[in-house]
Formats: sequence, structure tokens, C-alpha cells
Amino acid sequence: MNCASCGQELDSRAIFCSKCGSAVDIYVAGLPTAGIAVAALISVFFVPVLGIVLGYVARSEIKNSRGTKVGRGLATAAIVLGWVFSISYILFFVIWIALLLASTPDSLLVD
Ligand SMILES: [Zn+2]
Repeated sequence: MNCASCGQELDSRAIFCSKCGSAVDIYVAGLPTAGIAVAALISVFFVPVLGIVLGYVARSEIKNSRGTKVGRGLATAAIVLGWVFSISYILFFVIWIALLLASTPDSLLVD
């Protein structure tokens, strides 16, 4: 992350810029959240796989922005939720198929 007023590279825990003394958190609070991270978190509830993909895209975009974009937490949340939902859906589908097969009369099953 760099200082918003002088461009000095800052420690991620820095509260004040070591070069010009500007308060770091004021600039961080005013930074726009990466739109993709928000889109990822919304889409993950409808299409988990899309949320995962957008989450990774958002994270790399935030990483490459060198501190000019925030929202890494949102992107990470989208990725984690995306995996949880995907695995849940797969398990649900597998159980549903298993139950369907279990309740199918033997005469309909092909050996
Ligand atoms: Zn500075």
C-alpha cells in the first residue's frame, strides 16, 4: 500500500505515513470498494461458481491495484461462500440421486 498524498510505500499496519505524516486510514476509508468483489459476493448466492471466479478476479485486481482498491475481505468471503455452496449443492444432488435410486423398484434398474 502507498501513501495517498506522497506515494511513499507504507507498512500495511501503518496509521501515519512515515514520510509526510498523513493519516493513512482516512485515505483507506475513502477508497472505492472493488466493484467486482461486490458482484462476486452477490452472484455467489445465485451461481456459486460465478462467485468463485469473480472472487479470484477481484482479489487479483485488488492485489494489482497496489492499495488503490479495497474489498479483499469481500472477495475472500465470496470465494469461501462459493466453495461452501458448491460443495453443498453437489452433496445435495448426490444424496438426492442416491435416494431416487434407492426408491426405484428393482425391475427398473439395469444390471
Ligand atoms: Zn505520505
